[in-house]
Amino acid sequence: MKFFDVAVTFTADQFQGIYRGKQYHEPDFAEVLKRAREYGCEKVMLTTMTLEGAKRNLQTVREFPAMCKMTLGVHPYHAAEIYEQPDSQYLTELRALGESLLAEESSPLAAFGEIGLDYEYLERADKETQQRAFREQLELAVHFQLPLFLHVRESAEDFISIIKPFLLRLPRGGLVHSFAGTTEEMLQLVELGLEISVNGISFRTDEQRDMVKHIPLDKLQLETDAPWCEVLGNDPKIAPYLESAKPLPASRKHSKFMLGQMVKTRNESCNMERVGLVVAGLKGVSMEEVVEAAWMNSNRMFG
Ligand SMILES: [Zn+2]
Repeated sequence: MKFFDVAVTFTADQFQGIYRGKQYHEPDFAEVLKRAREYGCEKVMLTTMTLEGAKRNLQTVREFPAMCKMTLGVHPYHAAEIYEQPDSQYLTELRALGESLLAEESSPLAAFGEIGLDYEYLERADKETQQRAFREQLELAVHFQLPLFLHVRESAEDFISIIKPFLLRLPRGGLVHSFAGTTEEMLQLVELGLEISVNGISFRTDEQRDMVKHIPLDKLQLETDAPWCEVLGNDPKIAPYLESAKPLPASRKHSKFMLGQMVKTRNESCNMERVGLVVAGLKGVSMEEVVEAAWMNSNRMFG
C-alpha cells in the first residue's frame, strides 16, 4: 500500500525543533521522511502559508525532489500580511515566484494554496480581509491553472459563494484539506466538484465521523496535516480500527529528543496508515480500497 500525504507543514516550529518558542533539537526532516517511507508513504506535499514560507518549502522540495512537492499561496491566517505592503507588492511577488517555478521542467509546484476562509481564528485577519485575499488569490489561481489546495473552517457558506463562480475557470478543481465540518457541508463541496481530505482532526466527534463515512471514494484523499492533527489512538471510538496498525517507532518527549526517534504528540507522515485505517473502519470498506482510491485521487490531481 502506498500513501501520498497531501498536507504537511514543514515550516511549522516543531519540524525545526522549536516548541513554545524555544529550540529543543536540531531540525530532523530527513529522518521524518525516512520514517514516512518505511511506513509506505512515498509522497508528501508541503503546504505553504506565506511567501516567506514558500521559499523555505522550496529549499526542502529541492533537497528531496523524489518525495516532495509543494503548494503556493497565502493561508487565511496570514491574509492581512498581504495588505501590509503597498501597491499589491505581495501578490505581485507571489505571482512572479509561481511563474518562475512553473517554468521549470519538473516543477516543484503541485497546487495553488493554501487559500480559503477560517472564521474560527479572526484575530489575525477579519472576515473581510480573508474574503478579499481569497478572491484575489483565486484570480491568481486562474492565471496559474493549478489545482487548488483549500482551507475551510466555520465558513462553508461564504466559502462556497466566493469560490463557485471561479470554478468554471479552474478545470483542475481542488482539494478541501483537513476537513472537519458536517456531512451536509462536505456534500455541498463535493457537488461543486471539489475533493475532500481528512486527518485525525476529522475523527473527533460523532458528527465528523458520520461525515467521513459519507465521503465518496472517488473524492477522498488522505493526509496527516503534520505536525498537528494526530489520530488519537486512545479515543475509544477510534482505537478498535487501529488494532491491525503496524507499531510506530519509538518516541520521546521533545525535551529528550534523540535523532531517529519520533517526538511525542508531533504528528508525522508515518501515521498515514492510521488515517487510512480509521477512514476504512468508519466507511466499512477494506483498507486496500480506501488507500488505493486516495492514492489514485491524489496522483490524478497533484501528480
Ligand atoms: Zn489548513
